[in-house]
Amino acid sequence: MISNIRYTIIIPVYNEEAVIHETYRRLSRVMESVGETYELLFINDGSDDRTAQLIDELAGKDQRIKLLDFSRNFGHQIAITAGMDYARGDAVIIIDADLQDPPELIPQMIAKWKEGYEVVYAKRSHRKGETLFKKWTAACFYRLMSILTEVKIPLDTGDFRLMDRKVCDAMQTIREKNRFVRGLVSWVGFRQIAVEYIREERYAGETKYPFKKMLRFSIDGITSFSYKPLKAAAFLGIVVTLVSLAFLLFSLIEKYFGIDSSAGAGLAPLLACLFLMNGVVLIMLGIIGEYIGRIYDESKNRPLYILRNQDKKEKSRLKEVKLSVQR
Ligand code: UDP
Ligand code: MG
Repeated sequence: MISNIRYTIIIPVYNEEAVIHETYRRLSRVMESVGETYELLFINDGSDDRTAQLIDELAGKDQRIKLLDFSRNFGHQIAITAGMDYARGDAVIIIDADLQDPPELIPQMIAKWKEGYEVVYAKRSHRKGETLFKKWTAACFYRLMSILTEVKIPLDTGDFRLMDRKVCDAMQTIREKNRFVRGLVSWVGFRQIAVEYIREERYAGETKYPFKKMLRFSIDGITSFSYKPLKAAAFLGIVVTLVSLAFLLFSLIEKYFGIDSSAGAGLAPLLACLFLMNGVVLIMLGIIGEYIGRIYDESKNRPLYILRNQDKKEKSRLKEVKLSVQR
């Protein structure tokens, strides 16, 4: 065993000053009731409000609070990855800061872990207080993922989950850049089980996942687990070629054996077809571009995140922890 910390709670925060105190209060209450050692590992994802300051203040009073401070906003998935890198617990729990994931579910997750499950993920049976658009796009996305990917990613689950140390170690071996963490957790395997919960409304503040980020996130999810969009390009190519050949054959027959060889529908449908086909080709190029961009990201081999202001002592301590975790 590397440490005597039983549980690490990973909490990514991006401009969450409005919820920090309440999140801390509810998490501590729940974890106190569990009655074993724990740490609250906040990852400040380049907030430009008072989030980091508030966490620092709390850390002054409560030794169990740790803060990883990113040099800028690297994104939610990278923040939870950093959390997993530095977590020291025997079990690691990822939770959103905005209390949409109720901390009160944690004891149930721990109970399942103690039964021998290595991943306990929280499945949303219900979502409260989110726009119809968000619910609808989320539902479509999870279903599309299940059609497109071979890895079985459970429907309607977020990143709210408990992972055993073994799973966390396995996750650390995966350093891909455009990360879809919940998919990677499915990919690493182990014994996994769901507990159901009702997703609450955000406690305060606004969503940090506007449509653009959601879209990016969905594309990351799909491209990192499936080649099917590329196969669709090839398939569409074959279909279009066959249809055009048939059309060509038909016009030749019409021209030489047809009744009225001057018959024709004019230029408009021809132009429409031309534009349509160009559209399709450009979309397909775009899809290929998404994959190429990701290959480019991988080849640059940049670190996943940069931490700000880490004093040397802390840095070497964290490095030690990291090395011992990797060993
Ligand atoms: N978050 C983050 N970096 C980002 C966006 C979000 O660390 O770039 C955090 C955010 O502070 C919250 C969690 O990720 O703890 C989920 O974000 P949010 O609640 O805004 O997403 P939603 O629930 O609306 O999908
Ligand atoms: Mg939220």
